[in-house]
Amino acid sequence: MPIYAYKCESCGLAKDVLQKISDPVLTDCPACGKATFKKQLTAAGFQLKGSGWYETDFKGGNSCAAPAAGASDGAACAACPAASTAT
Ligand SMILES: [Zn+2]
Repeated sequence: MPIYAYKCESCGLAKDVLQKISDPVLTDCPACGKATFKKQLTAAGFQLKGSGWYETDFKGGNSCAAPAAGASDGAACAACPAASTAT
């Protein structure tokens, strides 16, 4: 669940809010009650997302740990780039 940084343009209140992506964007400042509470673009939210994608990609690319049956000389599976040169 991403954390969004909000800041009120009226009273200057800065607050990190844990929200689901499907949750509506907050607009009302909890301190002064004005509708000047704005979501900031921060690195924190993107960092969480980015690391998740990176991890998924890494695991997916590492799928040839178990060699296919019939592979000779201990070659990697057919999906492995090194194996494709031998065929
Ligand atoms: Zn405020």
